[in-house]
Amino acid sequence: MRVEEFDVLIIGAGLSGLRAGLEFSKKWNIAVISKVYPVRSHSGAAQGGINAALGNLDEGKEDTPKGHAFDTVKGSDYLADQDVVMFMCKEAPKIVVEFESMGAPFSRLKSGLIAQRPFGGAGFPRTCYAGDRTGHALLHTLNEQSVRNGVTFFDEYFLVDLFITEGKIAGLITLDIAKGELVSFRSPYIILATGGFGRIFEYSTNAVINTGDGVGAAFRAGVPMQDVEFVQFHPTTLYGTNILITEGARGEGGYLFNKNGERFMEKTAPKAMELAPRDIVARAIETEVIEGRGFEDAYVHLDLTHLGAEKIKERLPGIREISIYFAGVDPIEKPIPVQPGQHYSMGGIGTKFDGDYGETDLPGLYTIGECSCLSVHGANRLGGNSLLETAVFGRYIGRKLIEKGLPNKPSSSDVQAAEEKAINNIERLFKSWNENAGKKSVEIRNEMGATLNKNVGVYRTDKDLKKSNTTLQSLQKEFLNTQVSTEDRRFNYGLIRTLELRNMIDIAEATAYASLWRKESRGAHFRTDYPSRNDNDYLVHTMIYRGKNGLEIRTKPVKLGIFEVKERKY
Ligand SMILES: Cc1cc2nc3c(=O)[nH]c(=O)nc-3n(C[C@H](O)[C@H](O)[C@H](O)COP(=O)(O)OP(=O)(O)OC[C@H]3O[C@@H](n4cnc5c(N)ncnc54)[C@H](O)[C@@H]3O)c2cc1C
Repeated sequence: MRVEEFDVLIIGAGLSGLRAGLEFSKKWNIAVISKVYPVRSHSGAAQGGINAALGNLDEGKEDTPKGHAFDTVKGSDYLADQDVVMFMCKEAPKIVVEFESMGAPFSRLKSGLIAQRPFGGAGFPRTCYAGDRTGHALLHTLNEQSVRNGVTFFDEYFLVDLFITEGKIAGLITLDIAKGELVSFRSPYIILATGGFGRIFEYSTNAVINTGDGVGAAFRAGVPMQDVEFVQFHPTTLYGTNILITEGARGEGGYLFNKNGERFMEKTAPKAMELAPRDIVARAIETEVIEGRGFEDAYVHLDLTHLGAEKIKERLPGIREISIYFAGVDPIEKPIPVQPGQHYSMGGIGTKFDGDYGETDLPGLYTIGECSCLSVHGANRLGGNSLLETAVFGRYIGRKLIEKGLPNKPSSSDVQAAEEKAINNIERLFKSWNENAGKKSVEIRNEMGATLNKNVGVYRTDKDLKKSNTTLQSLQKEFLNTQVSTEDRRFNYGLIRTLELRNMIDIAEATAYASLWRKESRGAHFRTDYPSRNDNDYLVHTMIYRGKNGLEIRTKPVKLGIFEVKERKY
């Protein structure tokens, strides 16, 4: 078996992984591992932009990091850890300027300043953008810088499992997708940057690779999942395909209409209207449809026609293309049919209460980006804050670990023993999948996605959640007997999809379980049977562990103290 050894390993080549990699480059012996070529990571699909209080003036008022932090905490329905939010918002202007100096082509005002657009839940137009292809611009910028600075990449290597010695992380086992071989990577520091897991749902804006592999591997190694009941449903995904229609479309002035021609946001957010936070707009749309005011009982209209051809072509060219190609609608002439769809995972790999941001309970294991729960988004993320989070904490973790220095190496015989044990487990698993006669993973995956969509969606009830919990437990049992019919491991995507499902099904189960436990409504988690927020009992983070008799929940306090917890109105 091939064995590689590095000072630090980063799993994931999206914005968070690449930004961390860059920080270590030329200092430590570092490698970035990714199951796809870096620029195919989901970060490249980000459209609307990245938030930073650049200190610009709007109607005579100056934007500040504190204002940004306040909007973020309020948007999170007060579940975000306030010190982490403050740190992120203070770093934000530096991050945007740094991207710019690396060559990121931000859209600009006539004066030459970086342009900023209004976004949902923000008290200021503070979202910097590159047209409606911001993620693409930033990801390519970081990829170029990484190549230039000599970062070592292992592309198309799939993280399967982590291994531990003496209670500390020691390495991980990957599958080299092309050769079909297991390869071991040893390292005292591992940073998981494996992105979101929206694909546990049937309908999602996420890339098909967003399957939560880092969350699953960490969970099997005993690291809890945190706040996974908080799933962001983006209000405007294209009806039929659920491709994202960026919030930037509303930021540029788009209106939402029901079939009676009413701008229905007036009812729920009379001030913010279409630019209320995503959880509120998604619920408003869902309510219009449920109460019979949607088109074809399924969607509402996002109208951009009044913006004019010039603005649409300049600011929203990608949205126009997507609407024409996938819905046959040119937004210059007609409104776009939209409906809510899964978009972002606020929860993720649990981190410690104290210590450095991104550190997990397993010494040596860190996490950044969408797979982590640090928690800067709490119960609801504001648009434009996720791209920001990736770069802020990517850079931070690099600096922090270099400051800490490399730990003493564990004995190589211990590492070898742990490595062999991990390999044997995987070999046994693969063999059983080849011999089993149960359902194929795709069937189990479809049932999992359908139950989450139906029962763990925008509106949740005790009855539906119990149903999904039962379904997911029985799917877990069926998964033990799943089959992979082809034994040849080279480019075996049947095998890859099954490995992904192994991770997804744990996350799906935890999501439904935590949603049932949380008997209140907060941010994106809305229980029609408990429609109010209950700070007395539930102003806490959920930490989910796998116990002997199934899933267990522990709670962790929310870090408050900067902004007062209040009712949320827009
Ligand atoms: C359509 C869309 C539009 C968005 N628009 C915006 C926006 O405008 N503004 C904003 O702030 N946020 C936006 N977001 C959210 C934001 O883009 C993401 O949260 C963020 O880019 C995630 O970055 P990441 O580095 O954590 O992960 P990703 O970019 O998803 O990268 C994950 C990496 O992990 C690797 N990986 C995963 N599993 C394995 C494995 N088993 N083995 C090896 N490698 C693995 C992948 O290959 C990939 O390189 C958008 C999201 C979507 C889906």
